[in-house]
Amino acid sequence: MRVTEGRVEFDAPDARDGASEGRGDGVFYNPTQELNRDVTVAVLRAYADREPRAETYLDAMTATGVRALRAAAGGWDATAADTDADAVSLARENAAHNDMDVTVVDRDANALMHESTTVFDVVDIDPFGTPVPFADAAFANARDLVCVTATDTAPLCGAHFESGVRSYAAVPRNTDYHPEMGLRILLSAMVRTAARYDTAARPICSHVSRHYARTYLELDGRATRADDCIDELGYVHHCEDCLARESGVGLIADPPADCPACGSDRLVTAGPLWLGSIRDREFVAAVRRELTGDMGEATRADRMLRTLEAELDEPTHYDQHRLCKEWTRSAPAMDDFLDDLRAAGFEASRAHYGGTTFKTDAGVTEIRDATAD
Ligand SMILES: [Zn+2]
Repeated sequence: MRVTEGRVEFDAPDARDGASEGRGDGVFYNPTQELNRDVTVAVLRAYADREPRAETYLDAMTATGVRALRAAAGGWDATAADTDADAVSLARENAAHNDMDVTVVDRDANALMHESTTVFDVVDIDPFGTPVPFADAAFANARDLVCVTATDTAPLCGAHFESGVRSYAAVPRNTDYHPEMGLRILLSAMVRTAARYDTAARPICSHVSRHYARTYLELDGRATRADDCIDELGYVHHCEDCLARESGVGLIADPPADCPACGSDRLVTAGPLWLGSIRDREFVAAVRRELTGDMGEATRADRMLRTLEAELDEPTHYDQHRLCKEWTRSAPAMDDFLDDLRAAGFEASRAHYGGTTFKTDAGVTEIRDATAD
């Protein structure tokens, strides 16, 4: 099938019967990730202003070549890599069709990143499943920015516990804030991987949807900055009875014996998690300004980025419906609910993780009391 995204027109494998994704002979195209790719294009535009010396972009698992083509259309010196011969020839055809100068190589991404004579300023890792097998090569070799997609949401959020522990060398927990748990497990693993190369990796934009987590990590080659990132790792202690949660930084967990809110001993601890901000507020605002009308998902991306920009930096979000169910109340309109929290003196914002998710500096008991009829 022929697909247009942004100003790029390309061939992609036809979806099989009933499938929304196209998978030809090993070549994968996922139309549900168009929003992800639209945001990538806007990030690359905003990043070119933030770091003017950045020029080279590696799409490490290119498949159809679409991400590299869209980067090249924005002026980046783009390289597209894949280990699948069909993907490589399709990406080359798509580059030729768009009359674009994209270097398409039949190389394993890890080998390419370690051995390339080109220094990649921006490396984009978009594998099927966990990005962990490619993280070392990316953080050891990229200069400015590493973009990461993870589609293994069940291991990340603790639903597939052992798999999550194995992949991310951290303890995920299945909570009512599972998208954020997944993102913070991913960020923790990426920050610790970069630190092994004396490199700081700090997220400047991150978002999560049902099928993936996506983050953009800006690099700094000063070891002291890597230490600063390590200092923002820590643990969340979660009460399975009343949904209260506490967090604390540090690499040694220090969980309370009982829930401070309800006294229950059904506490679980997750971590080490990234507890710092998941984005640079000003950068997200700049990214949003770079969305353009030729993007198929510009409207949804704008809405998501607005929410992300205004989101509080608390390490976990709440789900209003889950809380109201816990308290056997009906859920009021979200804006009224947040206004009640603010009227009681707390900070409150929506969160981009879903329409019923929010953030506040209030504890679970304070939320209950502040929003009671
Ligand atoms: Zn409790």
